[in-house]
Amino acid sequence: MVEYGSLVVTGDGRGAAPAPPTDPRVVQAIRDFGLEGRTLYLPHMPYGGTYLLAAAIRSIGFDCWPTTHSDERTLELGGKVTSGEECYPQKITVGDFLRMLDDVGRDNVAFLMPEANGPCRFGQYRHLIRRTLDDLGYTDVPVLTITSNDGYSSIGQYSQDLIRTAWRAVVAHDALMKMLLRTRPYELEPGAADQAYLDALRDTGKALSLRDVSHKERLAATVRAMTAARDRFRAVPTRFERSRPLIGVVGEIFCRLNQFANADLIRLVEEQGGECWLADIAEWVWYVDDEHGRRLAEEGRKASRENLIRVIKSKVQRRDEHALLGPFHDEFVGYEEAPSVRELLDLSFPYLPYDGALGEMVLSTGTAIYLHGKGADGIIDVSPFTCMNGIVTEAIYPAVSRDLDGMPIRTFYFDGTQSDMERDIGIFLELARTYQRRKKPVRRFPAAFAVAGAV
Ligand code: SF4
Repeated sequence: MVEYGSLVVTGDGRGAAPAPPTDPRVVQAIRDFGLEGRTLYLPHMPYGGTYLLAAAIRSIGFDCWPTTHSDERTLELGGKVTSGEECYPQKITVGDFLRMLDDVGRDNVAFLMPEANGPCRFGQYRHLIRRTLDDLGYTDVPVLTITSNDGYSSIGQYSQDLIRTAWRAVVAHDALMKMLLRTRPYELEPGAADQAYLDALRDTGKALSLRDVSHKERLAATVRAMTAARDRFRAVPTRFERSRPLIGVVGEIFCRLNQFANADLIRLVEEQGGECWLADIAEWVWYVDDEHGRRLAEEGRKASRENLIRVIKSKVQRRDEHALLGPFHDEFVGYEEAPSVRELLDLSFPYLPYDGALGEMVLSTGTAIYLHGKGADGIIDVSPFTCMNGIVTEAIYPAVSRDLDGMPIRTFYFDGTQSDMERDIGIFLELARTYQRRKKPVRRFPAAFAVAGAV
């Protein structure tokens, strides 16, 4: 496991705290949330994504950082307060929060746990964490949430500003992660791509956390940081090979993104000769938006004010996305995401109709099919043990694979007790290589794969 510790300046996971807020509304909000003198910590999804999201939250004046990196104490502490019926992500998040309480002190921490409505257990996590902390006597430690259920009003009157900056953080991180995964398997100096990623996170985080500037100014600063990030990745010495199998990584959002939860699966695939395409976070944001629109249409409220706001918000998000991804146009040839989440939903429809099935299972299936069309040689579905998303998709993948000329698709379950991942991934990559030799879709490559030194 690579530690991204070089980004932090103190042992408690924080960088420089934002200057004390001067806006009386922010001062009041910090008081209302009980955050005076506390740092707000977020779980990793993944570390870099949370690093940028925390930077976005610092832009409104809250001192916010990712938790420090999970370790064996995470599972030990999480295991003491869970019964085994909870999902693995719950064990990790509560374990990490308890670790931060031990390491940083109850008077210095607060936690932010996202929440969502839906058919799975995720909606219960925050309540469980609150109850656990209360049972342990930490009644004074705040646990905040952000949820789409209330239009994010739970984070106060800055919600609209914050949502826009947070969206930019999501888009920026998706792009940086894509660059990392596109570059690292081919680097000639071990660690060079990771370093480029870290430097990019630091600069992009600085831009996103800018205070007292307009959205336009913050966007311009972030685009400059992203352009510099692209150039950093371009400067990594590489030897690209077109023969590496491309493996799509889909599945439950926390487990596929959290490096500790999935035992650093992507790095193992790379070490064994593969390249990964990780399903990004933006697809989930677009999915929530699409579901919202579909619900309003079903209720006969297509012409409502709520739907109008939703449409305008989507247009603004698309504009920001376009600006942030502009510098990467040439890098992402062959790595284009689906033009809309609706395309993914339509692809999965014959197996899991989106008007009946909900959540990540639909997205994972649609993305697997989409990536087949982009020339992927295999799909890994990452799932916490006992997660219904993984159970459902595992049941339908044989039919999906059959319809895709036998492209290998395998579900990897995680509960912290993986035995021989190297062996399992090695076998999967052999299947992917066999499929690669006979697959029909033709993969496109960026120009970098054709420059001198590339095979
Ligand atoms: S998606 Fe699966 S692992 Fe994640 S919260 Fe829901 S049931 Fe649990």
